[in-house]
Parts: sequence; C-alpha cells; structure tokens
Amino acid sequence: MSAGGAAPRKAWLIATGDELIEGRTQDTNSGWLARALLELGIEVERMHVLGDDEDGLAQLVQLCAREVDLVLVTGGLGPTLDDVTRHALARAAGVELEHDEEIALGIQRWFESRGRAFAQSNRRQALFPLGAVRLANPIGTAAGFLMRIGRAQVAALPGPPRELEAIWQGELRGLLSERLELDVTRLTRSYFLFGLPESSFADQCGAWMDRSENPRLGVTAKAGVLSAVLVARGADAHARLATRCEEFEVRFASHIFSSSSSDLAQALFERLLPQRIGFSVAESCTGGLVAAKLTGIPGVSAVFAKGFVTYSNAAKTEELGVPPGLLAQHGAVSCAVAESMALGAARRAQARLAVAITGIAGPDGGSAAKPVGMVCFATVLDGVVQSEERRFTVRGRDLIREFAAQTALDLVRRRLERR
Ligand code: AMP
Ligand code: MG
Repeated sequence: MSAGGAAPRKAWLIATGDELIEGRTQDTNSGWLARALLELGIEVERMHVLGDDEDGLAQLVQLCAREVDLVLVTGGLGPTLDDVTRHALARAAGVELEHDEEIALGIQRWFESRGRAFAQSNRRQALFPLGAVRLANPIGTAAGFLMRIGRAQVAALPGPPRELEAIWQGELRGLLSERLELDVTRLTRSYFLFGLPESSFADQCGAWMDRSENPRLGVTAKAGVLSAVLVARGADAHARLATRCEEFEVRFASHIFSSSSSDLAQALFERLLPQRIGFSVAESCTGGLVAAKLTGIPGVSAVFAKGFVTYSNAAKTEELGVPPGLLAQHGAVSCAVAESMALGAARRAQARLAVAITGIAGPDGGSAAKPVGMVCFATVLDGVVQSEERRFTVRGRDLIREFAAQTALDLVRRRLERR
C-alpha cells in the first residue's frame, strides 16, 4: 500500500532559555507542542534547545524557515533584557519592531487589577515584529505572535507551560489550521496488547510499520504493554483505516486487550462488571501489586472482593489453607502451591474467580531449578483451577514484580475470554 493524501506538514521546534541549557528546567513545552501538533497532522521533525541568545536564535530561525512550513519558538517573551525572542525574530525576518499601544494598556490594566505597580520594563512586552499577528494570552502579560519568515509560519509563545497551552487552545491552533491549509482527513485508532515482545510484534507487522505506509503504524512499549497507533491520511482515510484495523485485529487477536486503555486492570474490570463476577487475589512475590492496580480503578468494589498478601509459608497456610505438606513437597514457588492459593482465595473470599501469584523476584533466592524470575500463576473460575509457570528475563526485582502483576491480570482476562 503506498502513501496517500497530502504530504504531511513538518515543523521544527525551538525552546529557548538559559535555564534549559543550564539544566535547571526541563523542556516540557516541546513535547506538549509535538503532541498537540500531531493531532493536527503536523509532524515535528526536530527540536532545538537554545539559551537566551539573540544572534543564535535569529540565525537558527532563518535556517528553520528555509526547511519547514512551521517553526514554533517558546520562551523569551518576558519583560527583561534576557528575553530576546521578539528581537531575534524581527531580525530573522528583516523587519523592525513596532510598539503596540493597545497591548501596552492591556498589560498596565493587568497589573492594576492585581494591585501591582506597572514597571517600565513591561513595555518591552508590547513590542512586536512589524506585521506579526498578536496571540492573546488570557492568563499572563506575555502575548505571543505569529508571522511569516521565508516559506514558514513562525510563532513565538511564552515559556510558562500554562500560558503557552492557553494561547494554543485559544487562537493558535485555529490560525495554523487556516494558514497551513491542513489536510483535515486524518484518522487514528489505537490498540493495546500484552504478552508479545516489541520485536516479535514488529516482525509480525512486516511492512505495516514502514514510514511511508498509509495508514502508518507506530508502537511504544511499557511494562509489557504495547501501545499501537494506526494513523490514516487523505480523502480515503476512512476506508484505509477500516481495512487495516480488520487485518490487525485478526493478526493480533489473542494479544489485544483494549482499544481504549493501556491499563490491564481496567480491561479486566470491564469484562467482570457486566456479569458482576466476584474476584479475589492471593499474592506472594507481588506483595499486593495486583490488588493495588485493581483498586486504582473507580467502582472496582462491585467486583473485587479481597486481596491476600501471603508472603510466608505460615501465612499461606493460615490465610488461604495451603496444606503444610504441599509446601514441604513442592516448595512455595510451584504450580501446586499457586493452585492451592488460588482455590483458597476464591473459597475464603467467596468469589467465583481468583488468581494467585508465587515466584522468585530476586536478587537472591534463585537456584538452577527455580531461577530468579520464575513465577507460578494459578487461576480459578467456578471451582476449576488452571496453572502455569513463567520465566521472566527482565532485569531487577521491581521489573520482575511488575511483569508478574501484569501477567496475572492478563491471564485472568484470557481465562474469561476462553469460557
Ligand atoms: P520566559 O517566557 O522565557 O520568560 O519563560 C518563563 C518561565 O517559563 C521559565 O522560567 C520556565 O519556568 C518556564 N519555561 C520556559 N521554557 C520552558 C520549557 N521549554 N519547558 C518548560 N517550562 C519552560
Ligand atoms: Mg526566559
């Protein structure tokens, strides 16, 4: 399938401020803008970070304006002498700065309404490159502006994230859609998968992940969850997306757990709720992680009955009724004990459904037969127990516990879907 629709617009971003290059402040504005731009179908190709440097900024903006359709500059619109963005952009465009009396009066009123004195330095914030469109700042004194330099639309936005976001939502998003004549036919669809390494996923996708594909497929991985996003463009975006989604759902049927949330606990909750299936968990090596994930979901009390954290052998026997002989014979990390824990959790919480987790999270306690990362899971549904052993190769105690908790939630979901 070849690319279709108009070529996507490209943007470069420039974040300015000495505090950024000195490492005192993290540049969060660029990431925020990149996501906002992507929603308009504009792709960010590069992000630059620069100090409060008028010459450097003027040169960089000239370079950017030769390369792309859109340049967004953040920071440097304050009242002090180190706020140089308006001067740099005027220089890059080869125009003078003009004083805007209306904006100056607005700033004066802003100070008066807060009972603060208007400093002369604030007049600097009423200077704009000749011909620039003002972008009203509803929550601060630094108005942004939008101008043309070379082939590009260049916007300057204040550094404080809330002000920048307010200007984007208020005026800039709409203005850019008009000025760049954006191709509005852009549709996206997400899928969330579990139990598949990113590399296997990529292999199974084949050419679907090529940058030139339409729809284009992107994926990110976190805690074993793959978030896949399909983006279709052009007049036939709808048909293209529908076809690819159908193929995707067939190819990854057993791994897709949601098309709306990356949260496995949420996906499980949504399957339990309609039938009010009572659920209980018995945890050893995850120490309550599964219960914590479940109780993070509002309304989960309708189905989640009880969580047992049974770390010692004695607790497994006392709380869940695991026979001491079974522990002695198989060891605490075994499918036999996991099954007994799950049956005990279901029985004692009077739940139809239960899951148990027992494993070796490390760094110590492993052996050749039972290495660090080995985890046994059992699920019970209406008295029927099933178990399996997994070996996690992720590094470190925290990650092993996290993967074990996620896997437990996924196993329960799969168990429900197999019924
Ligand atoms: P300015 O518009 O340069 O006066 O920026 C004022 C304040 O906004 C700075 O002191 C920072 O706290 C914040 N800020 C500036 N640039 C960024 C950025 N790229 N990301 C996050 N915060 C920023
Ligand atoms: Mg600054």
